[in-house]
Amino acid sequence: VIQLGQPTRELITTCAYCGVGCAFKAELKGNTVVRMTPWKDGQANEGHSCVKGRFAWGYATHADRIRAPMVRERITDPWREVSWDEAIDFAASRFKAIQAQHGVDAVGGITSSRCTNEEVYLVQKLVRAAFGNNNVDTCARVCHSPTGYGMGQTFGTSAGTQTFKSISQADVIMVIGANPSDAHPVFASRLKRRVRQGARLIVVDPRRIELVSSPHVRAQHHLQLRPGTNVAVITAMAHVVVTEGLVNEAYVAERCDTKSFNEWRAFVARAENSPEAFEAVSGVPAAELRAAARLYASGPNSAIYYGLGVTEHAQGSTMVIGIANLAMACGMVGREGVGMNPLRGQNNVQGSCDMGSFPHELPGYRHVGDATVRGQFEAAWGVRLSPEPGLRIPNMFEAALAGSFKGMYVQGEDIVQSDPNTQHVAQALSQLDCLVVQDIFLNETAKYAHVLLPGSSFLEKDGTFTNAERRISRVRQAMAPLAGLADWQVTQRLANALGYPMNYAHPEEIMREIAALTPTFAGVSYEKIERLGSVQWPCNANTPEAGISTMHVGTFVRGKGRFFNTQYVPSDEKVTRRFPLLLTTGRVLTQYNVGAQTRRTANSQWHDEDRLDIHPHDAQERGIADGDWVGIQSRAGDTVLRARVSQDVPAGVVYTTFHFPESGANVITTDSSDWATNCPEYKVTAVQVSKVMQP
Ligand code: SF4
Repeated sequence: VIQLGQPTRELITTCAYCGVGCAFKAELKGNTVVRMTPWKDGQANEGHSCVKGRFAWGYATHADRIRAPMVRERITDPWREVSWDEAIDFAASRFKAIQAQHGVDAVGGITSSRCTNEEVYLVQKLVRAAFGNNNVDTCARVCHSPTGYGMGQTFGTSAGTQTFKSISQADVIMVIGANPSDAHPVFASRLKRRVRQGARLIVVDPRRIELVSSPHVRAQHHLQLRPGTNVAVITAMAHVVVTEGLVNEAYVAERCDTKSFNEWRAFVARAENSPEAFEAVSGVPAAELRAAARLYASGPNSAIYYGLGVTEHAQGSTMVIGIANLAMACGMVGREGVGMNPLRGQNNVQGSCDMGSFPHELPGYRHVGDATVRGQFEAAWGVRLSPEPGLRIPNMFEAALAGSFKGMYVQGEDIVQSDPNTQHVAQALSQLDCLVVQDIFLNETAKYAHVLLPGSSFLEKDGTFTNAERRISRVRQAMAPLAGLADWQVTQRLANALGYPMNYAHPEEIMREIAALTPTFAGVSYEKIERLGSVQWPCNANTPEAGISTMHVGTFVRGKGRFFNTQYVPSDEKVTRRFPLLLTTGRVLTQYNVGAQTRRTANSQWHDEDRLDIHPHDAQERGIADGDWVGIQSRAGDTVLRARVSQDVPAGVVYTTFHFPESGANVITTDSSDWATNCPEYKVTAVQVSKVMQP
């Protein structure tokens, strides 16, 4: 509920929804926020905002907020409200008992991309220093982990190469597997403005997204590929570049690793990788694909923006590598107006990865096996650290089912609703002896928890978020935490109860520690952000004061850019007589992810249920009319939704969103995942759809 009134004070903070990271002026009356207006000097948004950031913050004071810690012996018991001390002691003693009985590796933690950098840093520190293992992972596992792998391998670091502003110098814009009009609206406005100014647009997406159908922009090419065939399409584009003499030879000779380039050139030039060879597989007409590849290569400035339609596949990492290959071959990395930019879904996905949330990496993407780096953290933290990579989220579930993993600390993440194959996740969590959920609402995961620790919203804490352009901005406390403690304070108390001392007085102290231990953050400070508005990592003595806006200028972070062959492998999720359609998933403008926040705001009046988009041909074949209830069945499970008959999806493909727990989109998605990172293959699920009676 938005309470209106005359504001008495104001402060500047950062939106807690998507990876654009818009700056807002929060106006307050006493301890109550009465209005949020986009901040004209915000460097990511320049005074613009969308319907989520501007209006959907009322969830912060919603009646559903958890306002007191709760515990229970068994997950079948009723919750019992307790003091913070009792809840923290309960959790700590259970974690200690588990480790005493099952070993040090029997517990782990999950960080949240909705929390601040400082809070994420503390959770991974707690796992490594207090639990004594590397069993820490992040919700980025299920969205952009292939970006981390693919860009790390090819360029040397996993981060967007440009600022959003850089698009104003792009002549050709290629959007792959992303729907910025809904998921990154303020960036979409910049993109459309540039297209209206004359930039040409290529959209690679199975759906006819708004960038294709909008009367205000016109995509030159819509490569409407079949879900699961990204790698075929990007490899075919590379084939055109290589065989039609479109490689930027001077760039490649100067900037890239010759051996890997020559191997890749020979690989993509094979006839089996031509657009014609892949036409039947991908569904993209060869002539259209050839024209798009020529347009991208001609630039002169071509920029790529991509989303989860690239990463959430069994070949997610291969596709990220394929995009990097194409960009390097055409000389489209390392200056304004070009580049390769992952559009991060959540506000702090970039930050949560930067802060050492992956089980194999300490903050700053340094491997836990590196004794020198580990030694620096050991000296600063006063503990011995494990050199062994820990468990990823899906491995934690497997270990829980096998009985070797017994305790989990989940900060700000609803893994039951957001991870694939809900039944499998629920079954694994119900095996735990101690599940601690720290969240602002009683989410689906909390049903399996023994300890519930009230989380704090972005309006209740200080800290920083890092957006998709590596921009580190301040989050400023507008009101006191509803339950008395900010998230970083809760983690600190849990660490102390576990016997590992943490004594930060303010998040600024945590950032000082991050800067001291992370070379790419060495020049980051609250004082500097206060003065400059924001900074972009890398930010240290070797960079301008505000950090680096364009990455890989002159040389790649890894030195020479490295090519890898991208062999197309069909998804295991194949259509069959039993499951003849392919389901893909996404978001709408007014809702956000699992909807925990936006469902509790007026935004629900615009989108109050998840529906299944189905092509008229497939609908007619099944006797389905617009608005009918339909059953959707996959090899993982089944659910019921209402149908929307739409030509936005091609025949053979159905589409839904996952904003409402009752629709259970992830009951249907399967365990199929990316070969390199285990990122789930949310975007391809073979299903059957049939008309059913209203449930
Ligand atoms: Fe918030 Fe993203 Fe909308 Fe900006 S574009 S207001 S960051 S949801």
